[in-house]
Amino acid sequence: METIVAAVMPAPHAPIELREFPRPDLPPGGALLDTLYSEVCGTDVHLWHGRLSGVPYPIIPGHVSIGTLAASRGQMVALNGAHLKEGDPVVFFDVHRTCGRCYACTVARTPTKCPSRRVYGITDPAAEGLLGGWAEMIYLEPGVGVMRLPHGVTPEAYIGGGCGLLTAVHIIERAAVRPGDVVVVQGIGAVGLSAIALARLAGAVDVIAIGGPGDRAPLAMEMGAEVVLALDETSPEERASVVRAYTGGRGADIVIEAAGSPHAVEEAFGLVRDGGVYVIAGHYTNNGSSTINAHEHINRKHLDIRGCWGSEARHFVTALTMLERHADEVPWERIGATTFGLDELNEALAEAEALKFSKALVKPRARGLRR
Ligand SMILES: [Zn+2]
Ligand SMILES: [Zn+2]
Repeated sequence: METIVAAVMPAPHAPIELREFPRPDLPPGGALLDTLYSEVCGTDVHLWHGRLSGVPYPIIPGHVSIGTLAASRGQMVALNGAHLKEGDPVVFFDVHRTCGRCYACTVARTPTKCPSRRVYGITDPAAEGLLGGWAEMIYLEPGVGVMRLPHGVTPEAYIGGGCGLLTAVHIIERAAVRPGDVVVVQGIGAVGLSAIALARLAGAVDVIAIGGPGDRAPLAMEMGAEVVLALDETSPEERASVVRAYTGGRGADIVIEAAGSPHAVEEAFGLVRDGGVYVIAGHYTNNGSSTINAHEHINRKHLDIRGCWGSEARHFVTALTMLERHADEVPWERIGATTFGLDELNEALAEAEALKFSKALVKPRARGLRR
């Protein structure tokens, strides 16, 4: 019997182990991908530390991934109606089982809050099979949204953008960036980097990035930031004065939080203009409370504060469109600068936690990539 190797996270804090899985029998509408790449992102570090609720350990991590179509039972039809064939480079929307019938899906029209929703690599148990990208093959159950990788987009650019790009598409939609806006992005991790690029593409004249570590600043500039204010080299007062200097003393039209820090939230009220918009997307886990003065920071300021949770299939498809049109000018492939084999993921998680990279790639068919 053919077996498929996957890297399993048995429980929070436990070392990642390699385990063998049987090749699944495909039901009608099911498919199997030969994994080209998955990723190690900040979410995987949170998973490893048990900071997300409702995770059915053991799991096979790796939510955003890319593979070639190895097998399918019946014709695979992409979200855009294209017919996929064996050998095609295929990407899939990691969120599945959104029900389309519950209150969140229908009345509130917030499908990212659907209670039935599951996510590959995060809320799918390894007991149910190859539902994560840290594996030689990925099982696509019937109903998973798939697309062919657009022509001209490399697998490295797709996975470099990865989950951060999908999140950033949703952020920019929530922020409603308009031509001429000045946007501040707090955080220059994978989400912040893509938010910088998309804010510029949406018409922002200047994007001011705040974050660290400092060795990420050159990439933030290449993603489209006008200036990068290093957290450890500037004070909050200095950062606010730079933002005022770019905005005629008013403050930024939009501030995007992709830092995951309660202090970033407190700082934002001094960066955003009266009547501006603040989108909070970096507090994916509970990082503690921020102090807000409702009169000064929200009511008198006439401020619009918007949360941003998860992403929808349309954000996934838009991410592909942006890659297809702009991957030659936006260096998404450089966000995933480091690649690990399936047997090196404990090291990868330790380095991710130490912020040695904003995102690493996982190449499941390879072992011992790191020297
Ligand atoms: Zn639902
Ligand atoms: Zn991720």
